[in-house]
Amino acid sequence: MQKNTAISLLFNKMGRNRNTIFLVMCLMVHVGYFSVFVIMGVIPFAIINAISAVFYILFIFFSKDREKSEKATVFAYFEIIIFSTVCELFTRNTFGFIYFVIGMVPVIFYLSPSYGNKRFLFQIIGVISALMIHNTHVFIPENFFSQLYEELLPYSRIFNFVNLLITLFTILYTSVFYTFELDMIKKELDYSSTHDPLTGLYNRRFLYDTIVKGEETQISIILLDIDNFKKINDRFGHDKGDEILIQLSSCIQEENKYSFYPVRWGGEEFIIYYKQVSIDSAYECARYLCKLISEKIVLPDNTHVTVTAGLASGNQSDFDSVLKIADEKLYYGKNNGKNQVVI
Ligand code: GH3
Ligand code: MG
Ligand code: MG
Repeated sequence: MQKNTAISLLFNKMGRNRNTIFLVMCLMVHVGYFSVFVIMGVIPFAIINAISAVFYILFIFFSKDREKSEKATVFAYFEIIIFSTVCELFTRNTFGFIYFVIGMVPVIFYLSPSYGNKRFLFQIIGVISALMIHNTHVFIPENFFSQLYEELLPYSRIFNFVNLLITLFTILYTSVFYTFELDMIKKELDYSSTHDPLTGLYNRRFLYDTIVKGEETQISIILLDIDNFKKINDRFGHDKGDEILIQLSSCIQEENKYSFYPVRWGGEEFIIYYKQVSIDSAYECARYLCKLISEKIVLPDNTHVTVTAGLASGNQSDFDSVLKIADEKLYYGKNNGKNQVVI
């Protein structure tokens, strides 16, 4: 479990920085090629890679946050198209630099999500560039840098393979992190559509869409309302009021004799929903919870927060009638001194 969390944290961090990692990888490729071409004595190619490396240092320097790193990636995308075109011209389509452009067509999609539909335009530019680069040899005269070409030709297979490998790895790596991020966003959306943002308890929507829609069973519910909450807000401020709502939610979650669904029903009203728990057992829980709340939640003037609760029980399919009864009990409790549980 712990290992899983560590891996998912690492993935999360890498995913968030995937653009910068991509730019660093590009820089490494250019530095690597610069060294190789220097050793081979192919100076024009060493220079091309040195220039590209300088660009990447600038791109990385510019990538201070996610938005800027996406912008830098788009610049890098056009740099890759230009770089590949130049290299392919000199090597007459024998070194596989075109793979970089082909590979960047999906990669730019994964690496610039905030560009939305504009990404398709980038992709079309990539596709057209790849098609043009692929056919440049048709337009190149026989004697175009022929000495350089002859020198490079014996290495074409190995360069082809390395360039293919780099491209495939980049597609794989970026698509994995893109998918990972989408999953994270989906989980966050699922959570926020079913939970109350302030207290973290289930919301009304989850209650109706999921809890009540389960298979038919006997239910007991506690409808709980803070006493004089408006006055608490007025006296100590809205932020203090929020803090009390959070404290109260923790108290609800502490209660664990039976399994239940804690729901924030409205402003300062909560439902504790039990399946297959008798009303007498729910009553016991409600008494315990009210005591716990009044002991634990203390106001700045040293007075204690109290709640009133109404209980009801019935069939899950009759939830609305059960709730109506609980509401009547709550109303009765409010009109008869508050700070009590009414069954
Ligand atoms: P009673 O004892 O009869 O329940 O009185 P009450 O003052 O608690 O009830 P009333 O319904 O008159 O007031 C509820 C108050 O809860 C009004 C509203 O400003 C406050 N409230 C609702 N939602 C929130 C919230 O999210 N945060 C804070 N701080 N206050 C909230
Ligand atoms: Mg109320
Ligand atoms: Mg109230």
